[in-house]
Amino acid sequence: MAEWKSRICLCLTGLTLEDDLRLLESGRGFADLAELRADFLDPAELPHLASFPKRAGLPVILAIRRRRDGGLWNGQEVERRGLFSRALSGGYAYVDLEEDLEDPSLAEAVKRAGTRVIRSGRDIAGVPERLAERVRSLARKPGEIPKLAVMPASTRELPALVDAYQQLGGEEKILIGTGEFGLFSRILATKLRSFLTYCFVAGGKQAAPGQLDPRLLVELYRFRKQDRETFVCGVIGNPIAHSRSPELHNRGYEALGLNGVYIPFLVDDVPAFFELAEMLDLRGFSVTMPHKRAVMNHLDERDNSLERIGACNTVVRRRHGGWYGTNTDAEGFLTPLEAQAPGLVRPETRATVIGAGGGARSVVYALCSRGIRPLILNRTPDKARALAEAFSCESGGLDDEGISRMRKNADLIVQATGAGMEPDPEADPLPGYRFSGSEVVYDLVYQPLMTVFLQRAKQAGCRIVSGLAMLFSQGAAQFKHFTGLEFPREALDPQNLIVK
Ligand code: NAP
Repeated sequence: MAEWKSRICLCLTGLTLEDDLRLLESGRGFADLAELRADFLDPAELPHLASFPKRAGLPVILAIRRRRDGGLWNGQEVERRGLFSRALSGGYAYVDLEEDLEDPSLAEAVKRAGTRVIRSGRDIAGVPERLAERVRSLARKPGEIPKLAVMPASTRELPALVDAYQQLGGEEKILIGTGEFGLFSRILATKLRSFLTYCFVAGGKQAAPGQLDPRLLVELYRFRKQDRETFVCGVIGNPIAHSRSPELHNRGYEALGLNGVYIPFLVDDVPAFFELAEMLDLRGFSVTMPHKRAVMNHLDERDNSLERIGACNTVVRRRHGGWYGTNTDAEGFLTPLEAQAPGLVRPETRATVIGAGGGARSVVYALCSRGIRPLILNRTPDKARALAEAFSCESGGLDDEGISRMRKNADLIVQATGAGMEPDPEADPLPGYRFSGSEVVYDLVYQPLMTVFLQRAKQAGCRIVSGLAMLFSQGAAQFKHFTGLEFPREALDPQNLIVK
């Protein structure tokens, strides 16, 4: 017997039925069914609702959501019920009725049409207590599919949501965590056994916060390939939506045919996330700002580098339980440098690191681990001094004196400040420094790919290394921690290291 899989439902929120058909076309091939949100339609379209299922050519849910339930319908209730009854003769596979809607003539129309009822509730004020019971209580008759959308307001509410999935097990239901905190529940609908997951396509209006494009769900998050055994990894941060890590890891799983998925988790509470990670049986996760220090309090074992770098960017589940933490930034920094400037990483090399933040600290650690003691220059000289003292290096400010000292430490120059990064790509941390052309110049900034600093270095004839190379190579090192396998380079476009 084929394994049970959740379904992808495309929400149609056009102003006309023609608009909805266009939205459907752009999602066809990715969606299993569609939900026609008739409350978004122009009133002139409503007499034609019965014609829609045949034109759609896939199973359709009819929903006419009232304003008080988060929809746009503000007409008479009697009119809405009449619309439902008349439309059902058109062959809707499902109809979405609110938990308080009890109407004998509508019930008769539902029965006559052979339509299944989705009985929906909506709890926007966070995750309610006794959630599993609340879901079960929604169905009014046998055969109805209970549906509840809850909106978690914090990571702290997520263990209760997952607990409800676990209590409900294989019972038929639609349970969705909306918003960015709930995103994982949309992606893991098969594992969590939600009857369906809702999506929207560009051009349509998002019917609920956090809905994804179905193409992304299928192509990036590998929704069709997921099953109950799929292993889960992810990245935590706040904010997290910009992260490139899901592209890297999911493309790697795809290229190697691994049964895994990698998810972005918006996290505002690290201890609660560790609880969630246990419940979801996470294999490991990447850590980005601002949690790189906070996760260190929850590790059962740690790599020696963590104390020196002062930050953990990789957490891996240990074979016999508990969590191991490491940092792949140093390896991620060195790998592309050794590839693009062979022989440079040796103790005799004279180097300068510009910046004294978290990125600079990993770079200084990496260089010192190879016997190179760089000069550290920073806009705020005190911070450069503190970092230099921790690693027995020299330091200075970003001034004329710093520049002249830099000239004597310029086999390798590493730009590790945020200057030149979007949204201020014109900034240059050291406009006064003239490259001779013999320096190897490495810029940690990866957005944009070519910073002004890197452009100037290239024009002067320097060999350059971009921050994207570091980003992907620290991600590839994480990939190995999570899977035990080398990251498949063929999943990357070698021209610019953009994930294919
Ligand atoms: P951070 O801890 O906040 O440190 C920021 C550093 O940038 C500080 O030294 C700060 O100097 C300096 N800075 C900021 N704006 C500046 C300006 N306009 N002129 C001169 N100096 C300036 O940040 P971080 O985590 O180290 O990140 C720094 C950059 O590296 C970011 O662009 C980040 O995306 C990038 N990064 C890339 C990777 C990668 O994998 N490619 C890894 C880590 C970091 P003050 O001390 O004077 O404030």
